[in-house]
Parts: sequence; C-alpha cells; structure tokens
Amino acid sequence: MFGKNRNRGKVAIYIDNCTGCGNCVYYCRHRAIGFRTGIDGRHAELVNPERCSGCGKCVSVCENGAIQILKQAV
Ligand code: SF4
Ligand code: SF4
Repeated sequence: MFGKNRNRGKVAIYIDNCTGCGNCVYYCRHRAIGFRTGIDGRHAELVNPERCSGCGKCVSVCENGAIQILKQAV
C-alpha cells in the first residue's frame, strides 16, 4: 500500500538562479536542503532528497525562482 503523498513530487534547484541566500535551507523543516560551495560561491542543493515531502515551502520562500516542484510518475 502506497502512502498518500507518493505523487507529490520532489524539487529541483536551478543553481544558475540561486544566490545562496539560505531561505530554503532555513525553512525546510525536513532538512532536505543544504549548501554546496564551489568556486562560484554558495548554492543550495537537495542534499537529502529522500527527506523531501514535496511540501513546496522552499519554492514559496525562494525570491529568485530557483526551485521548482517536479511532478513524478506514479
Ligand atoms: S519541498 Fe518541502 S520538504 Fe522538499 S525541500 Fe522543499 S521545503 Fe524541504
Ligand atoms: S532560497 Fe532560492 S536563492 Fe536562496 S538559497 Fe534557496 S534556492 Fe538559492
């Protein structure tokens, strides 16, 4: 039996649009997002995708439109 949330999707973070502000990291209560630091600075990354519920909070707090919910096949 599948849980009712199985088809809510996960997120994609588009680092070209990410300024590394940290809003998504702060507001993700499942701690699915962390930071990756490279030569071009700090970006958000879905470091624990298995923890992501697809709740969309990170999408709503990203002022740069850098995160999208991905719909997944059943
Ligand atoms: S959709 Fe929700 S659980 Fe998933 S990364 Fe964003 S805030 Fe965290
Ligand atoms: S809220 Fe948006 S811009 Fe800020 S760290 Fe997260 S993805 Fe990057």
